[in-house]
Amino acid sequence: CGIVGYIGQDDTKDILLNGLEKLEYRGYDSAGIATLNNNGVNVFKVKGRIAALREAVDESNKATLGIGHTRWATHGVPSRENAHPHQSVSERFTIVHNGVIENYIDIRDEYLADVNMKSETDTEIIVQLIEVLNEQMDDVAAAFRKAVELLSGSYAIALIDRENQDTIYVAKNKSPLLVGLGDDFNVVASDSMAALHVTDQFLELMDKETVIVQRNSVEIQKLDGTTVSREPFTAELDA
Ligand code: GLU
Repeated sequence: CGIVGYIGQDDTKDILLNGLEKLEYRGYDSAGIATLNNNGVNVFKVKGRIAALREAVDESNKATLGIGHTRWATHGVPSRENAHPHQSVSERFTIVHNGVIENYIDIRDEYLADVNMKSETDTEIIVQLIEVLNEQMDDVAAAFRKAVELLSGSYAIALIDRENQDTIYVAKNKSPLLVGLGDDFNVVASDSMAALHVTDQFLELMDKETVIVQRNSVEIQKLDGTTVSREPFTAELDA
């Protein structure tokens, strides 16, 4: 299981699908991608192999921003409905998540009592929570940080906002996640293997940091909103 994301100038679907293929060794039961362009968000997901996902992705879909996932089910059976990406009620927010949210029932009961869930996953509560918090705060980055503060468990997450074609929001806690740096593009991946076909420069992330990834910038923030600076490292392909 694993996640990937891309924001840049090129079409994203092959970059995501190639990245997901590199994560196949981690094991998975379903896979999906979401892309964002002027027509909105497109979600493609299947139960089964990346090859089946490739078949399901519309060849004519063009977007320079997207996120992808291979799932190893922990909450909810392997199925298309439970496959990631997951979307909020309004479909404004779309998320991929790796890991397990330990307090998802508490969050559902406290913040999401009125929300009709579309899946059986612990993941869906993250994206629904961000939508509810953003309605209250009217600030997506702040709502994202607040959600990360409230979640316990392990996660690597990447979120896109239909109203913002310039940003992927990412965070991690006790699950691996790296940001890969490019020229006019940036990527996110659970493992540098999934991004070495586009860059060898990576930023390590610490638990509960949130990151605003744009085409030409990467801003790491602490939960209080202050910015952290960090030098990239060079990843090498193991022989
Ligand atoms: N807990 C989530 C689910 O069951 C994510 C599993 C994973 O890491 O692939 O959908």
